[in-house]
Parts: sequence; structure tokens; C-alpha cells
Amino acid sequence: MSHPAPATALRVAVIGAGPAGIYASDLLVKNAASIGREIHIDLIEKLPAPFGLIRYGVAPDHPRIKGIITSLHRVLDRPEIRLLGNIEIGKDVTVEELQEHYDAVVFATGAVQDRDLDIPGVDAEGSHGAADFVGFYDGNPDFPRTWDLSAQSVAVIGVGNVGLDVARVLAKTAEELNVTEIPENVYETLRTNQATEVHVFGRRGPAQAKFTPQELKELDHSPTVNVVVAPEDIDYDEASIEARSSSKSQDLVCQILEGYAIREPKDAPHTLQIHLFESPVEILTHEGRVVGLRTERTELDGSGHVRGTGAFTDWPVQAVYRAVGYRSEPIAGVPFNHVEHVIPNDGGHVLDHAGTPVPGLYATGWIKRGPIGLIGNTKSDAKETTDLLLADAAAGRLTAPTREADAILELLDARGIRVTTWEGWYRLDAEERRLGEESGVEGRERRKIVEWEDMVAHAHVAPAYV
Ligand SMILES: Cc1cc2nc3c(=O)[nH]c(=O)nc-3n(C[C@H](O)[C@H](O)[C@H](O)COP(=O)(O)OP(=O)(O)OC[C@H]3O[C@@H](n4cnc5c(N)ncnc54)[C@H](O)[C@@H]3O)c2cc1C
Repeated sequence: MSHPAPATALRVAVIGAGPAGIYASDLLVKNAASIGREIHIDLIEKLPAPFGLIRYGVAPDHPRIKGIITSLHRVLDRPEIRLLGNIEIGKDVTVEELQEHYDAVVFATGAVQDRDLDIPGVDAEGSHGAADFVGFYDGNPDFPRTWDLSAQSVAVIGVGNVGLDVARVLAKTAEELNVTEIPENVYETLRTNQATEVHVFGRRGPAQAKFTPQELKELDHSPTVNVVVAPEDIDYDEASIEARSSSKSQDLVCQILEGYAIREPKDAPHTLQIHLFESPVEILTHEGRVVGLRTERTELDGSGHVRGTGAFTDWPVQAVYRAVGYRSEPIAGVPFNHVEHVIPNDGGHVLDHAGTPVPGLYATGWIKRGPIGLIGNTKSDAKETTDLLLADAAAGRLTAPTREADAILELLDARGIRVTTWEGWYRLDAEERRLGEESGVEGRERRKIVEWEDMVAHAHVAPAYV
């Protein structure tokens, strides 16, 4: 339970309750002694539930990673940190209003959309952004509730971990995924999945693939999936050999791909083939629907880059998933770099268009440095940002808020916003666990609740000290 911020406390709003926002809140509260004042945080989140992409990005069959949520409970249990969910900054509350209520504002709004892929056919029916599919299967209330899974052959563009997540979820059976936290509507939809062949395409070679070894190896754990790599897709030039020898992780990725390329095929109903040196150039369509993917064979040019060979292949697939990266969205009232899709910053201070720090505004996590890296990386990132904030506070460079400590609650109440809270999260969590148990499926820890209103019904607690 939070307690009211004393008048002398530094008040900070952290926007986004993903890992970056939670780690930043933790570090600020822990290091309050360095400025000789208590620090109180309002952790403001758009969705009714916290945890960002840990809850709504990490694949459901990765329970160990999802388990990071348990360790973050320790942070959100702190009395100086108050979660205020179901509030979209830039829409429900403006940044200007935040500045009136807090000494400092830290943006940790992450990324939830797909980056564009500019090839013909990308808008056809059956061409999907990976982020949309992830939002669907992870039960994000902002994403569709059903999905067309009638395609028997599917292409996934992109050789990173998100591509592997999407390919794995498409290649596994609904029953294999039913032991996870997937919501009921997702299970029912996955039961209609017709895919027997999933093809993952990357334009470069094994030494340039962005997978992490553990994810790549784990693909093979499903008894229903035969992972295939063609021996001719294993190739290295001098720069690739160098890249491989200077990174243990990349070397492991190469070894695992080589292992897939030389082994006997596994007897399994579904095939997941990773194609390297195939650059997607066009999504083929008929009457507005995907009927194939055209790729151009590439070859290494000696520097670790590839060039086209002019040899094209048409792969008959009925759906294409583009896993070419995530993209952050701008927030009204905050500077935004529309090329890099990040908040411009100098390692933490938000910069205006002239490159000057905007007093009292900070950024951390994916919105600060782009959608690259694991949950653990957001911790070091938060350290860099919060160190700057603490130094500014210690040097008296922050402007004190003009509003009283809890005036924000009155503002939210006056706008009719049904705020969800940390106490509310415990209720939602308990209900999801109850539903998981009730389903009687062994090993299932929870069944996620998807509908926004249902989430709010459990997690809304009237604004007060919560
Ligand atoms: C599909 C996928 C799978 C992944 N799998 C793994 C994995 O297995 N292991 C791993 O270590 N990492 C994984 N990652 C990476 C990991 O999720 C990120 O490193 C991490 O979540 C980034 O943290 P963040 O807090 O910056 O952003 P996010 O996690 O995106 O959190 C941002 C939060 O801000 C909120 N928000 C956005 N806009 C507003 C607004 N205007 N007002 C209020 N709130 C707002 C969002 O709702 C969200 O809750 C995966 C990523 C993806 C996309």
C-alpha cells in the first residue's frame, strides 16, 4: 500500500509500466538518499495491467521469461511506488498537465507496432505484421480477438527472435500451447490452424542471423516440429568468420544452424525451415490475397554483407508474417525522431528539436534507444537515465510542481477515468490464476483475461492511497 507523498518528496511520473519503467522507478526510490529527499513515483500505464512486453510480447511458451514478472512484484510492492493504470498519456492526460503535478517525468513507453517493410504486396490479405499476431496470441486487449489461420504454408520474414516466436507458435499444435497462459479465444483460434509448413526467410547468412542461441535451439524441443536448414544455406566469408570468432553467442548460433543442416530429418507432422541468403522482394497476390513470396538468392560479398544474384524463387505460401522489427509511437507533446522512431535524447534527457535538454523530461527503455535488446538491457538503460535525473535533482535543476501531491487523482476522477492499481493487479492476477486452475489443465498457471472492460472490472480501485 502506497502512502501519501510528503510535501518535501521529489515527485516523479514514470510513463509506461514495462520493464524499463519499473526498473527506473526502483532505481529512483533506492537512490533517494543521494539527493537527501524521499522520492515518490506514480507509474502511469496505458493498459489496465502492468509489465508491458513481458506480459504482451514474450511468447506464452516461455514461462521462465514471463516469470520475471514475479521478481518485479518486489519493486511494485514498495510503498513509494504507486501504479496508476488505464491512463494514456498524451490522450487522457497531457504532458503539460504532468509537468504541473511532478518534478520530473520519465517516458518508458516502449514499442508495440510493426516497422514497415516496403515491398510490393505488403497490404494484401494474409500479409500480417508480427506485432499484430503477437498482440493477438499474448491476449493484448488492444489487438484482434480472432485470426485467420487457414494457410497451410506460411512465410515469416526476419531472422530474429520475434520471427522465431511467430514461427514456433504457428508450427506447434494448439494442444502444446494450451498448457501456457494463452487466453481461451486464442486456444480456440489456434485449434483452427492449418499450417504444416512454416518458412523463415533471412537475406544474410548464419553469421549475421539475429537469433539468440537458446531460442534457436529450443525450436527443436517440440515433438511436432521438424526444424530444417538446407546445407547450401550455410556459408561464410572472411568477415563472417571474424564475426563468428569474436562473438561466442554468434558462434553458437552458427553451430546450431549447422547442426540443423546436417542431421537426418525428424519424423514430425510440421516442418519449420529456416532459409538463409533469400531476400524477400515481393509478396505475390491473387485477387488481393497472398498466394506466394518471391525471394532473390543472395551471396556474401567478402565484407559480411550480401548482394543479389538475380536468381528468384517463388514460394507458394498463403500467409506472410513480417517480423522485421518493432516501432515506437510518438506521444503528443513530446519531441519525437520520426526516422529512428525514438524520443531524441542524450542518454536520458529528452532533447528538443534544437538538441537542447527539455527540463524535467527523461526517456528510458525501447522508446529511448529503439526496439533492440532483452529485458535485462532495460535495467542498465534505466540506470543511465535515473543517474541523470538524480544529478539534476541534486543540483536543483528541476522545477517544483505547482499542484498538490494528490491533485492528479482528482483530475483523473473528474475525467471519469477508471484507474487500475497495484492492489487491483493482485485481484486480476488472482482471478487469472483461478481461471487457470479451474480449467483443469495440468501445468497451466493462469488463463489470461483479455477484454479491456473485464480487466478493469477486476483491477479498478477507486483513486485514493492505494
Ligand atoms: C515479441 C517479443 C518477444 C520478446 N521476447 C523476449 C524474451 O523472450 N526475453 C527477453 O529478455 N526479451 C524479450 N523481448 C524484449 C523485451 O520485451 C523488451 O526488451 C522490453 O519489454 C522493453 O521494455 P520497455 O519497458 O522499454 O517497453 P515495453 O515493454 O513495450 O513497455 C512499455 C509500456 O508503456 C506503455 N505505454 C505506451 N504508451 C503509453 C502512453 N502513452 N501512456 C501510458 N503508457 C504507455 C505500454 O502499454 C507498455 O506497458 C521480446 C520483445 C518482443 C517484441
